[in-house]
Amino acid sequence: MSPTRVLVLNSGSSSVKYQLLDMRGSDRLAVGLLERIGEETSRLKHTPAGGGSREWSGSIPDHESALKAVAAELAKDGLGLDSPELAAIGHRVVHGGRHFTEPTVIDDAVLAEIERLIPVAPLHNPANLTGIRTAQALRPDLPQVAVFDTAFHTTMPESAARYAIDVETADAHRIRRYGFHGTSHAYVSRETARLLGRAPEDVNVIVLHLGNGASASAVRGGRCVDTSMGLTPLEGLVMGTRSGDMDPAVIFHLMRVGGMSADEIDTLLNKRSGLIGLCGDNDMREIRRRVDAGDERARLAFDIYIHRLKKYIGAYYAVLGRVDAVAFTAGVGENAAPVREAAVAGLEGLGLAVDGGLNAVRGDTARLISPADARVAVAVVPTDEEMEIATQTYALVIGSGGSAGSENLT
Ligand code: ADP
Repeated sequence: MSPTRVLVLNSGSSSVKYQLLDMRGSDRLAVGLLERIGEETSRLKHTPAGGGSREWSGSIPDHESALKAVAAELAKDGLGLDSPELAAIGHRVVHGGRHFTEPTVIDDAVLAEIERLIPVAPLHNPANLTGIRTAQALRPDLPQVAVFDTAFHTTMPESAARYAIDVETADAHRIRRYGFHGTSHAYVSRETARLLGRAPEDVNVIVLHLGNGASASAVRGGRCVDTSMGLTPLEGLVMGTRSGDMDPAVIFHLMRVGGMSADEIDTLLNKRSGLIGLCGDNDMREIRRRVDAGDERARLAFDIYIHRLKKYIGAYYAVLGRVDAVAFTAGVGENAAPVREAAVAGLEGLGLAVDGGLNAVRGDTARLISPADARVAVAVVPTDEEMEIATQTYALVIGSGGSAGSENLT
């Protein structure tokens, strides 16, 4: 039997999220999160298939210890990293620049390129690299695959990918619109086509990934033609803690008149803006509770969030020309019916409407929430970035003759 399991690792600066999947039946064997790496007390929450979470806290000084702790936890369920069933490790890598348009088997040249991209992803790529190097040290024999958040967006035309600034300056510093959340946009646009019973190549979709970070994308026939995040995840929609679009002159003004440093403004716009900056909360559940209780600041924050979302729906409608579906996904998109209702309200002229009854139904599977006779389908499509990373990793390893592909699969 060929190995069929894939471990998906999402290594952040102080956390590691992981899932172990069996690709034979797309089963999730274990899910976990190790947080607060390097702090006094780190925490691990591990949930094997069938439930019964285990929690552990103690000192985890670095990523190497973190991955060893994860491996030890998996081993308790007979799923250790030394298992011959493990076909590959798939790593989420945030920034792949223009170079990486596909998932890629990691070698020294790939590591060097991810490292070269650190100036455009100073928070994410170093943590992703540490995760990869640690996993390589633990299982040097195993194929390790990088799946990039930016890859799905590399199909954007230059007209969407370039900022209208001096070309030489932009190119010298690799300034362009890369986009993020690509794994989610790819998965959700494909699942939306499946929900409509059509081939992805025949369908134009606006995907609204609304989590704590949020981004929109315009997908024509399965290929991304525009997305709302740019050089970094700061551009675009109003997010939990990020401002999204803004006149760049606000930054000069804060420097010259407000006396703030570049780092202070970076923190302001990434961590203290968006919903939390507007009303003090970034959780849409709490914001809706406050709105329903008549809180004016929460109401204004909600309205600003929806106004921006609507502008992007309109913009991407225009970019695509013909839209078959608008798909809501991620924490807010999947759960917040009032957001979906408000985002589409008044867009009947574009063929967009939400059926109140369908919108109110909760569920964890892809579903339509537009009226049966609607010109454009409106859908809720739960995202599954880990499954997508595992699927892409496994397909690549099987296809490239890595350990999983080295044996006859039949
Ligand atoms: P990320 O991966 O970007 O951290 P998620 O996609 O998990 O985020 O989304 C997290 C957000 O989803 C929370 O901040 C909260 O605003 C929102 N959310 C989660 N559950 C609900 C719910 N039941 N109703 C409304 N909003 C929700």
